[in-house]
Amino acid sequence: MYQNPNHRLLNQTCIVTGASSGIGKHVALAMGRDCANVVVNYISDPVTAEEVAHEIEVSDDIAKAMTFKADVSKEDQVQAMFKAAVERFGTVDILVANAGLQRDAPLHEMTLAQWQTVIDVNLTGQFLCAREALREFIRRGKRPDVSCALGKIIHMSSVHEVIPWAGHANYAASKGAIVMLMQSIAQEYAPIGVRANSIAPGAIQTPINRDAWATPEALEHLLKLIPYNRIGQPSDIGAAAVWLATDESDYINGTTLFVDGAMTCYPGFSTNG
Ligand code: NAD
Repeated sequence: MYQNPNHRLLNQTCIVTGASSGIGKHVALAMGRDCANVVVNYISDPVTAEEVAHEIEVSDDIAKAMTFKADVSKEDQVQAMFKAAVERFGTVDILVANAGLQRDAPLHEMTLAQWQTVIDVNLTGQFLCAREALREFIRRGKRPDVSCALGKIIHMSSVHEVIPWAGHANYAASKGAIVMLMQSIAQEYAPIGVRANSIAPGAIQTPINRDAWATPEALEHLLKLIPYNRIGQPSDIGAAAVWLATDESDYINGTTLFVDGAMTCYPGFSTNG
């Protein structure tokens, strides 16, 4: 059924992790534009998180927003975030497990701390948030007036769930693991109405990869990897995330949506390899 594009998430609540910058910020803003209540999670930047929450509330007179500080790699903090969300908004319908980071090094020089930090945030953080979301979906039960699904989980993955990445093995390993986490959740919980999917962004212009676009030379080099010949914007991911959260994508479950300007289409082979 067609839904008003600006009201597709009416009466639903979305938690977006790592929402004070980059992709998470624009996912939060886009969810708010479609009338979802939004929990803007942050770890270190309360001022920007408040600005995002404020922007959601002023740009739409229905959506409400709250900020919540939590380290997604810490079980007690993730649980406290879901508790606060349920206290404020009644339930959680959508999780966008977006928070992530890089600690780059050649593998033979990578410290255990670099390895562990990336796995803790990018993988364990997604497990902890997805587990709390599932617990809340099951506790609350279906609301057919609001959504066909019992709940929606969107994992922020990366093209590096399929593209190996020298010098970033911890990051690529964490994103590769997201595929099996997401698909196992879909296999296990689709029968009760949960939808679990991933978004795999290509190169998106955010603070995480500033070195790759901050100078004209770096950008020119980067664009050789992107057949569509432009760097992605966080709003490209925001739009995809909202669509994945609406009933318009109700039959999409257990899959990865690549939003990458064809980066995964082996651009090196465009001139005969
Ligand atoms: P970003 O650095 O702007 O955003 C990452 C956010 O995660 C930040 O707000 C940061 O504070 C937060 N964060 C880090 N550790 C956290 C923790 N322990 N708990 C809670 N929040 C934490 O970068 P981004 O590009 O917006 O990245 C968002 C997601 O998109 C990441 O998962 C990243 O791997 C993924 N991604 C980004 C790109 C890209 O090109 N920018 C490409 C593919 C995937």
